[in-house]
Amino acid sequence: MNATFAQSPSIEAAVDDMALRADPVVAKLETSGFRDQWRAVAGLGVLGDRQPPGQQETGELGPVTRAVTAIEGIGRAGAPAGLCYAMASQWFGLQFPLRDVLSGQAWSDLGAVANGEVLLCHALTEEGGGSDPLAMETRADRLDDGGFVLTGRKAYVTAAPVADIALVFARTSPGAHPFALSPFLVDLAAPGVSRSSPFPKTALVDAPMGALDFDEVRLPANSMVGEEGAGLALLTATTTWERGLLLSYALGPMRRVLDRTIAWATSRQHFGRRMGASHLVAGRISDMALALLRCRRLLYGMAERLDRGVRTNQLTVDAALTKISIAEDYLSFTRHAAALGGVRAFIEESGLTADLADPMAASTYAGPNDLLRVSVARGLGLPVQN
Ligand SMILES: Cc1cc2nc3c(=O)[nH]c(=O)nc-3n(C[C@H](O)[C@H](O)[C@H](O)COP(=O)(O)OP(=O)(O)OC[C@H]3O[C@@H](n4cnc5c(N)ncnc54)[C@H](O)[C@@H]3O)c2cc1C
Repeated sequence: MNATFAQSPSIEAAVDDMALRADPVVAKLETSGFRDQWRAVAGLGVLGDRQPPGQQETGELGPVTRAVTAIEGIGRAGAPAGLCYAMASQWFGLQFPLRDVLSGQAWSDLGAVANGEVLLCHALTEEGGGSDPLAMETRADRLDDGGFVLTGRKAYVTAAPVADIALVFARTSPGAHPFALSPFLVDLAAPGVSRSSPFPKTALVDAPMGALDFDEVRLPANSMVGEEGAGLALLTATTTWERGLLLSYALGPMRRVLDRTIAWATSRQHFGRRMGASHLVAGRISDMALALLRCRRLLYGMAERLDRGVRTNQLTVDAALTKISIAEDYLSFTRHAAALGGVRAFIEESGLTADLADPMAASTYAGPNDLLRVSVARGLGLPVQN
């Protein structure tokens, strides 16, 4: 296909290279459990900033852009959407922001994150709700020795049933003031931690999601990330990274759906002619290409700014706009695919399945789009609160 949505040659080469290397690995994933899938795909260098031997030269790309190409590449190779999502969530929502705030020693104490041996999760949401973090009930009480006791329950956490370490946001002071929360890195093998079975869910079904219970878990003083009361500041950083880049997980699946839909519209016969000869069909295909173009431009634009060193606190509004725009484009893209696939859009293994739940979920995670609209307007100067 004559792709009109190309980025720079180095970006395209890096995506193609990852897709090519991921292809044989992805082909064998179907029978593996999530952790084995994670290890196998991480072994390609997806989560690490050092390139494994044999990888095509992509030295001119910054680490954030390289991470986006890697996530797009595994999606192009057909890695399950839930796995791509969970990897993007760890890379952008945890690895990058934590490396900005942890010392080199504290980062390496986490263990072998980049090669997939150690899996992280981001535990913010509670059963009572996720949009209003200052309403959380999970709390960490300080002990005389400087450590903490963590008590509470987090829910709807991606990878919670299988993760090794959680970044947990907990209340260290009462009330709803900006310094009421603190972040902790919690070893999920510690006494007092238990986890639920995976929640059966309808979106991103390949990524396990669940709850974490903390029953008077003793935390050493150095498990706190940064200063006491820095929870909201770190949360702003992790969510800005996520809003700006998490949806790079969708690029590979979108490209595959577009390619399949074009092939279908080109071959399917309708009313004595090929389906793609209809102007309405052609218009939908163009709208799908337009959505993919916009998504790629926004994501790689955000990655380029982060690689240039633009700080997350300067990107909060743009990251929210990026997330809203891509979530909406991904949904409308998938609606076109569902329309063009006909009944096959709803049949597994048809090759034309169009899963509307995945793009719909994008309007909820990393901040519901409605609330992001409010925060964008506030960032633009409107006197509007949540
Ligand atoms: C696929 C997926 C993965 C997830 N992974 C994680 C994870 O790894 N870790 C984690 O901690 N959480 C995770 N979550 C949870 C997610 O962070 C929360 O769903 C999100 O923060 C919203 O919280 P909520 O679902 O409780 O919605 P609620 O807070 O109940 O809000 C529901 C809706 O109410 C409306 N609303 C409420 N108040 C307002 C207002 N003031 N103005 C306008 N509209 C309003 C909005 O439309 C909003 O969408 C995940 C969610 C999904 C779908």
